[in-house]
Amino acid sequence: MITLIKKASSFKNRIAIKSNGQNYTYNQLLQQSEHVSACLLQGKEDLDQARIAFLVPASFSYVTVQWGIWRAGGIAVPLCEKHPLPSIKYVLDDTKATTVIYTEAFEKLLSPLFKSTHIQFIKYTDIKPKKCMLPTIILDRSALILYTSGTTGSPKGVVTTHANIEAQITALTTSWEWSKNDHVLNVLPLHHVHGIINMLSCALWSGACCEFLSKFDPKAIFDIFLKDEVNVFMAVPTIYFKLIYYFNELSNSEKAKISEHLSKFRLMVSGSAALPVSVLEEWKEISGHILLERYGMTEMGMAISNPYNGIRRPGHIGQPLHGVSIRLADENNKVVPDGTPGEIQIKGPNVFKEYWDKPEATSNSFTPDGWFQSGDIAIFDVDSYQILGRNSVDIIKSGGYKISALEIEEVLRTHPMIKDCGVVGIPDLEWGEIIGASIVLKSGELLVENLTSWITKKLPAYKTPRKYIFQEDLPRNVMGKVTKNEIKKLFT
Ligand code: ATP
Ligand code: MG
Repeated sequence: MITLIKKASSFKNRIAIKSNGQNYTYNQLLQQSEHVSACLLQGKEDLDQARIAFLVPASFSYVTVQWGIWRAGGIAVPLCEKHPLPSIKYVLDDTKATTVIYTEAFEKLLSPLFKSTHIQFIKYTDIKPKKCMLPTIILDRSALILYTSGTTGSPKGVVTTHANIEAQITALTTSWEWSKNDHVLNVLPLHHVHGIINMLSCALWSGACCEFLSKFDPKAIFDIFLKDEVNVFMAVPTIYFKLIYYFNELSNSEKAKISEHLSKFRLMVSGSAALPVSVLEEWKEISGHILLERYGMTEMGMAISNPYNGIRRPGHIGQPLHGVSIRLADENNKVVPDGTPGEIQIKGPNVFKEYWDKPEATSNSFTPDGWFQSGDIAIFDVDSYQILGRNSVDIIKSGGYKISALEIEEVLRTHPMIKDCGVVGIPDLEWGEIIGASIVLKSGELLVENLTSWITKKLPAYKTPRKYIFQEDLPRNVMGKVTKNEIKKLFT
């Protein structure tokens, strides 16, 4: 039996989910997910790895569908709530989904697809209470297809097995000391590993309570924090950025109240993109917490994390999680000495099975001796890893140097007028690449010559941007990650 389900039956009447103003117990989760399984099985013994897609808001219903698919032997394919129809159709075609479960809110969006003869569409409210015989699920079976964020190219379908998922959950629940007394607030989308594994599955594995907020809203988030129930929070840097902006507009008494409540939290995590040091410092001022930054990918869940107990170094991602092996390697897959940048390569039971229907991409992403090649460049410094960026977009190759865009961004963000920035390499005949920076100002105007003379005092000449553009906001994908290829295009 899937361990998550086995554990849930021992948590019985504990509150598992808080959504839409209602509480739902573990028993209710088990019962309703069985109804979903029965509806999908329709008398069959096993879904035999059929891909079942679903478009259901982050809520009790979402979890019952995900579990219902797993318990019936299907592969769960969560769709992104914010995607337009062509992106949804892409996932349905790519996975050859046999069924789509959806809720009322998405009926209009999906209706042009209802004519499709090979996909069965099931409205969640049409699922009837029904018991059924459930198949035995072995852990080596595929469980999930999640699409990567599409930050560097087309999203790839990542297949993980139940065993991969269990390894990902156990590494985090032990390292971050999850317990049944935890209560997490989720504001993350549930078509991505961060929300599904780190938050939802870790909480339910531990017998904890998971509370959903239907949409991102800083006021609603702070209102929930003030109730003193939530003690765990996870988000991406952009969310912390927005919370800080909202907080700074509050009155001193409101600020003091929020800070007092935040200081009681057990755990606050950031990940999915590099956490700017300025955000870490401002959040520490507000909450008293040094955000726990961790590093991971759709392909492996989480791999490297700052310590739960112990020193968290700003700009660093810490050490490999329990059960995960990490090495830094050069272009020839040879391990580099400490202090030298290299590609993060990973081995462990957490690493995915394959890219869906892409055998070549799968074999190209592993070294001959079985290490997964992340495409991220890092350096091991004293006692922890530091990310320098993605090889494809953040490592700028200029005049024989390899320059980290993230390092330049950190410096630019210390300028009092700069709100945010994205640094990229621009193709150049003479230098290979030159550095370009897209700048978002807090307000007012900043002359390029003033910025240039400011930055030449902070960085050596070869690391200073040669071209600047100013934008209202940086281009981002639905995970809030800056899409650097779009910034690059603005310079060419
Ligand atoms: P795609 O693979 O489609 O281009 P993506 O890589 O953004 O998109 P995800 O799997 O969501 O898709 O993200 C994993 C990537 O996020 C990592 O490879 C890494 O580049 C980045 N990342 C995750 N955590 C961190 C972190 N703490 N610091 C810096 N980068 C991070
Ligand atoms: Mg990726």
